Amino acid sequence: MSTATHAPPIDPYDPLTHVPPSPGLQGFIGEEDYEALVKCVHCGLCLNECPTYRANGLEPDSPRGRLYLIRAVAEGTLPLSDEVEHHLDQCLVCRACETACPSNVQFGQVMEAARHAILETKATPQRRLLTALAFRHLFPHPRRLELVGRLVRWYQRSPFPALVQRAARAGIVPRRLAVMERMAPRLSDAFFSAPPTAVVPATGPRRFAVGMVSGCIMPLAFAPTNHATVRVLSANGCDVVIPPTQRCCGALASHAGDEDSAASMARANIDAFEAHGLDRLESIVINSAGCGAQLKGYGHLLRHDPAYAMRAQSFAAKVEDVAEFLVRVGVTANLGPVHRTVTYQDACHLVHGQGVRAQPRELLALIPGISLVEMRDSTRCCGSAGIYNILQPEMSATILEAKLDNVCATAATCVVASNPGCLLQINMGLRERGLELDGKHLVDILDESITAAASV
Ligand code: SF4
Ligand code: SF4
Repeated sequence: MSTATHAPPIDPYDPLTHVPPSPGLQGFIGEEDYEALVKCVHCGLCLNECPTYRANGLEPDSPRGRLYLIRAVAEGTLPLSDEVEHHLDQCLVCRACETACPSNVQFGQVMEAARHAILETKATPQRRLLTALAFRHLFPHPRRLELVGRLVRWYQRSPFPALVQRAARAGIVPRRLAVMERMAPRLSDAFFSAPPTAVVPATGPRRFAVGMVSGCIMPLAFAPTNHATVRVLSANGCDVVIPPTQRCCGALASHAGDEDSAASMARANIDAFEAHGLDRLESIVINSAGCGAQLKGYGHLLRHDPAYAMRAQSFAAKVEDVAEFLVRVGVTANLGPVHRTVTYQDACHLVHGQGVRAQPRELLALIPGISLVEMRDSTRCCGSAGIYNILQPEMSATILEAKLDNVCATAATCVVASNPGCLLQINMGLRERGLELDGKHLVDILDESITAAASV
């Protein structure tokens, strides 16, 4: 009879039996990110909040499953296979799991570290080239972006888009091309740019000077919303400082795993606002949820850079979403009636990334004539997630369908959101369903209300 004692079997979901050999064994993710991921106690409370898990019910497409995969690769018990990469790519980085997590696992941080490692170790030469072209040679350069924007705008107003759609239906060009084209934002007739003086003065009594991050896609595709943001801030007593040397915030680069490009854009933005009196600014205001979450994360992004670590923290501490800022300082502009029944979509990077949920609703409640009807699961992703809808069109479409069902159930005539990606995605879905609703940015509604008050 054997007297040997047997060790209990290792259960990957049991933190007591699954002791890691050592963190970051393969250099897959750093120790700091490894520490963040081992806080997961596998409770599963995040599963029902995860849009991809709800769509297909697969554990590897849940937050817990993805953390397990990243951990196993880091510990060397699982190779970084195409299958693992596929499950990580399916993640929207919507961060709904962070809101649900009782262990405070910073999932977004871990996922971005994993994507960075994949880009460094496994990406194909084509993917590396595309990433470098996008995030080193295009997004950090506003003039190049504007030039590309002019070309795209010319193309969008030409007969070519209709020809591409017809050719895709006839099977002459790939269907994916036609889908990508339908998803691309329709660029504004005139792009937004900072005034030559970099400052738009307050109208009425001056209360504050605030910085404004104008974004990279917003000036091209949402120029009227950027103008509306300036008017709303100015009407509320703010001198609006828009440094012309600011850059893209780097959010898309971070989501794609290109941390170095994101860090270099962060440094350029800190320099730009410091050159325009960062210390004197009451706030740095942003109207795009995805950019806001990125800007608030500059302290973490540049934590190992001795020249910028402290400056990044000071910068990030001033960043506020436009709704957050207006509610904090109080709305002083007169608001006129806007007669609409609206529903509000909580952008993931506003509600989960920044914890801003009440403020947009408080602003809507101030506007006479607005009736807010809450939709079911308003805090669930719409499937946009940066360029996720282009990279993962099937999963994105499944998630969007659920969102549109919830929108339709409210009988609202307008969907309000505070993020360009959500507006593009929802508006595309509404168009494709042939619905008579439109999606609008919260500041567009506020601007309409201020204009209505002025015309009384
Ligand atoms: S970030 Fe969103 S999609 Fe990714 S695992 Fe978390 S809840 Fe799911
Ligand atoms: S809720 Fe948090 S601790 Fe629980 S499984 Fe999800 S990530 Fe892990």
